[in-house]
Amino acid sequence: MPEIPEPSSRDRTTLFKLRAQQCRYVVSDETEAIFCGAPTDDGSSWCPWHRQLVYTKPASGGMRTGRGFALPGPR
Ligand SMILES: [Zn+2]
Repeated sequence: MPEIPEPSSRDRTTLFKLRAQQCRYVVSDETEAIFCGAPTDDGSSWCPWHRQLVYTKPASGGMRTGRGFALPGPR
């Protein structure tokens, strides 16, 4: 599997500035929601890095955890 580089923190943006082709993975929600903002592939809501996080594969080939999403929970 090819290595996917982690997106730059300089791409981060807020909901108001988020555009269609920017990653909408929430990287911080402490004061206001900060989105990743890295460029996405066509038809994807996330950059390759966060898409790989969102579609979490079973950690160790054996058991499936049944968790389809790895989104950060409310704090
Ligand atoms: Zn992203």
